[in-house]
Amino acid sequence: HEAKRDRSGLEVYIAGRDEQHLRRLGLIAALRDAIARDELTVNFQPKVDIPSGRVRHAEVLVRWTSGTYGWVGPDEFIPLAEQSGLIHALTRHVLDAALATLRGWCDRGLDLAVAVNLSAVDLVDASLPVWIASRLAHHGLGAERLILEVTETSVMRDVDAAVALLHRLRGAGIRLAIDDFGTGQSSLAQLKRLPVDELKIDKSFVMRLGEAGDDAIIVRSTIEIGHNMGLKVVAEGVETPAGLEALRAMRCDMAQGYLFSRPLPAAAFEQWCRAFAATETTT
Ligand code: C2E
Ligand code: MG
Ligand code: MG
Ligand code: MG
Repeated sequence: HEAKRDRSGLEVYIAGRDEQHLRRLGLIAALRDAIARDELTVNFQPKVDIPSGRVRHAEVLVRWTSGTYGWVGPDEFIPLAEQSGLIHALTRHVLDAALATLRGWCDRGLDLAVAVNLSAVDLVDASLPVWIASRLAHHGLGAERLILEVTETSVMRDVDAAVALLHRLRGAGIRLAIDDFGTGQSSLAQLKRLPVDELKIDKSFVMRLGEAGDDAIIVRSTIEIGHNMGLKVVAEGVETPAGLEALRAMRCDMAQGYLFSRPLPAAAFEQWCRAFAATETTT
């Protein structure tokens, strides 16, 4: 405390920046080790069909607890993985873990698809479609069992390359979703160019639905735009029964959020699905 008080504001600022820089470098090294040692895990969160109340998709969310840094969130380490080139290995690890898990669920009678997030860097990786096709074949899964989620922002970084890649993925029968819709800079004209099947409304608009404010207007018009473009519309960040009822009234197709479940490890997710299906049929 003494030393800090003696320093000027600028010195404290620079020291803070150095610390952040060191943390980033340390995290990248630790992440490289974690990927090599197979220490990343994936959790699954249900996407529920609103009219039928059935779980259709499981979104796959990567998790990392580092020996040195403890729990680190994907919002912090995914950008580092992109900057360092580790994202290629990370994406493949997550995809393969998701498909292996899905294989088991299918064998045990669960009719689900998995939704995996891609980063901007993946969207310019021309080798990805062939790799994915080979992993689907390896696990004996049809392409209709896989959805890939991309954000508007990541598509816009190199839009021509990304659109070409998305066409190849979709041509192979994989479904595509636009994630975090409403937070990016893209125009509707650009959205029309994207060969997608599903539009996910960002949770920042959904979380407070059912309370007063402008969010209901934004969500309602986004659902209309999505439907007019022939897309399924998903709301992420559904936290309250009132929010879900508002979405149902607006004819939103699917809902995802803490109201149903937090992201869970594979075994817990499977149990949750069976329990959820049991309560649905009795109500
Ligand atoms: P996302 O793809 O939009 O995923 C949804 C995020 O919202 C997840 O955060 C999820 O845990 C959180 N969430 C779900 N329901 C609720 C809710 O009701 N309320 C609130 N407040 N939050 C909710 P998470 O797991 O921390 O992931 C953050 C972001 O990191 C993801 O956003 C995605 O962009 C990225 N990400 C996660 N896993 C991967 C991955 O395997 N690959 C890539 N490239 N990105 C990933
Ligand atoms: Mg997502
Ligand atoms: Mg999202
Ligand atoms: Mg997000």
